[in-house]
Amino acid sequence: MSQPRALKVTNSLTRQKELFEPLHAPYVGMYVCGPTVSGETHLGHARPYVTFDVVFRLLLHLGYQVRYVRNITDAGHFEEEGRAAEDKVQVKARLEQLEPMELVTKYTNIYHDMMDRLNCLRPSIEPAATGHIIEQISMIEEILEKGFAYVSNGSVYFDVSKYASGHDYGKLSGRVLEEMIAGSRDLENQEEKRNRADFALWKKAPPEHLMRWKSPWGDGFPGWHIECSAMATKYLGSRFDIHGGGMDLLFPHHESEIAQSDIANGEPPVKYWMHCNMITVNGKKMGKSYGNTITLRELFSGNHPLLEQAYSPMTIRFFILQTHYRSTLDFGNESLQAAEKGLQRLLKANEVLKGMQYPEGKTSAVNEEEELVIASIKRAFDNLYDDINTAMCMAELFNLVPKIFSWENGQLPLASISRQTFQALQQGFTEIVEQLFGLKPEVTRDDHTDKLVQLLIEMRKKAKSAKDFATADKIRQDLLTAGIKLKDGKDGSTGWERE
Ligand code: ZN
Repeated sequence: MSQPRALKVTNSLTRQKELFEPLHAPYVGMYVCGPTVSGETHLGHARPYVTFDVVFRLLLHLGYQVRYVRNITDAGHFEEEGRAAEDKVQVKARLEQLEPMELVTKYTNIYHDMMDRLNCLRPSIEPAATGHIIEQISMIEEILEKGFAYVSNGSVYFDVSKYASGHDYGKLSGRVLEEMIAGSRDLENQEEKRNRADFALWKKAPPEHLMRWKSPWGDGFPGWHIECSAMATKYLGSRFDIHGGGMDLLFPHHESEIAQSDIANGEPPVKYWMHCNMITVNGKKMGKSYGNTITLRELFSGNHPLLEQAYSPMTIRFFILQTHYRSTLDFGNESLQAAEKGLQRLLKANEVLKGMQYPEGKTSAVNEEEELVIASIKRAFDNLYDDINTAMCMAELFNLVPKIFSWENGQLPLASISRQTFQALQQGFTEIVEQLFGLKPEVTRDDHTDKLVQLLIEMRKKAKSAKDFATADKIRQDLLTAGIKLKDGKDGSTGWERE
């Protein structure tokens, strides 16, 4: 079996593939920007979280002790920086007639549910911006004290031109300051800023603003960038190993994070910046203005005009892994349907392989067949260590699939490879499919399952009429864990659906 070897990752900061060497091995600190929970989790969220879930799994597999921090943005991400200075959460809360925190809880719950269904492991720490206002205020104070921020009309801005004169501002996104100034929009509150490229660390809250906190500069709320800097510093220290996110966050979000943390903590915060590329839907950028935003709930239920059918969470996960994270990924019905078939074939091969027994007493000498199998499984792992190339790794697994089926149906004698090689294949294949790719069989609706669930519905009904509510609840809960949601009618459960 090939032993885990050196991991290489593409560092957005240097635009190079680099050897991954943690700052304090065996510990690894990884921060990934979480969602703004002012709306439903959509396709654009699926890719970064699945990508960094695989990075997390691979780091664990390599034996590192990983602290994975993924935040929840529940305040401070402006609907449109400037004019109204309202945050996304509050705007949406008013539309939905909910308390801001009610809205945040609603979408956080949906997000967690979607992440579970995509089989993304939970992060080690999931800090919320609203729970770290004190940390954000002290970081802003630190930046003010060092002279890289200024107070203007109750708001605090980061002084980008001052920072840029002594630091390499723009090194991550590759943008130059002049370009950034030219690109910034002419919005009403620009007059508060000394320079158009400056960004808000703290915003003064207008009287009608519901989400507000006391600060040395008056009532207000934090800027979006400062939350990540403050929470990453709190849980991972002033310098940590990996910071991940989608490429859309490179600028201004990540560039601003570097500047703030660099000034407040005295060193650049991150050793390896990793970014996954954008997604498109039928070749078009996804966005409200294109009318092609698809939420994960719509995707899993098929309930969207652009979708020909429902696509299961594992199909989506498989589909994402089929493409290297640094390439763009286009969602379309045809390719999703192909992914659905591919996933079934891969999972079938995995089940077959797990159930296979090597014939007693038989073992062959090293031969050509054997060398092919060994080389294939080694390449599968090597591809993962080479900048998390799940696409090439997947291709290697699919090279082995016909062989696995030939052994199963007797076309090829299993003993044509040695017992040792067979065991290494069995272990390696399953490890990649289940532990590293995080793929698992899903409940498909068929007669057989239907009969079994009906049986449980009957048992639950009996438990309820006997006032044994604990058992009734347990049946409902356990089925939910297994991916089956009961539909309750007036006379108890009448049916079920795939969760
Ligand atoms: Zn962030």
